[in-house]
Amino acid sequence: MAVFFHNDEGKEGSLKGVLKEIVSGGWSLIAGMGVTIRRIYRPVVTLQYPRKRLQMSPSYRGHIELKKFPETGSHRCVACGTCMRVCPTKVIKVQGEKTRAHEEKKGTLYFIDFSHCSLCGLCVVNCPTKTLKFSEEYELAHYSRWEGVVDLVQRLQESA
Ligand code: SF4
Ligand code: SF4
Repeated sequence: MAVFFHNDEGKEGSLKGVLKEIVSGGWSLIAGMGVTIRRIYRPVVTLQYPRKRLQMSPSYRGHIELKKFPETGSHRCVACGTCMRVCPTKVIKVQGEKTRAHEEKKGTLYFIDFSHCSLCGLCVVNCPTKTLKFSEEYELAHYSRWEGVVDLVQRLQESA
């Protein structure tokens, strides 16, 4: 005597067909579990951002910033203006002042609009006092274009 069942589409199927579907479904489940288990034991390549942060490569270029030198606890910008002149997009504005007549100027304001910086590095390589470097900052998105304008002297002081 042949036994018939109704499948999901309401069509009649034989016991053999139903068993075949059960075996195929079971095998698919085992194959899926196999993929999941293999993935669990692979090395982790992602981070729980933002609770954990990436260590950026030394060659990474975030926006430029002023270096802090341990002997003075400050930068060495003498407001010579070289970085302003070499910047192809003209996004740097530097001001400095002298505390005494025969001393070098010291940079007191260093504005950069990094939303227009192409990260070309000309300012970094041409700075005579080597006081510029690329930051490791990678969260560079902002809501308004004005948030891209930063005073690097103030930023350095706040990082202390
Ligand atoms: S080139 Fe260097 S020293 Fe001259 S203004 Fe720019 S950051 Fe300062
Ligand atoms: S990296 Fe290039 S574009 Fe950016 S501020 Fe320096 S000179 Fe200008």
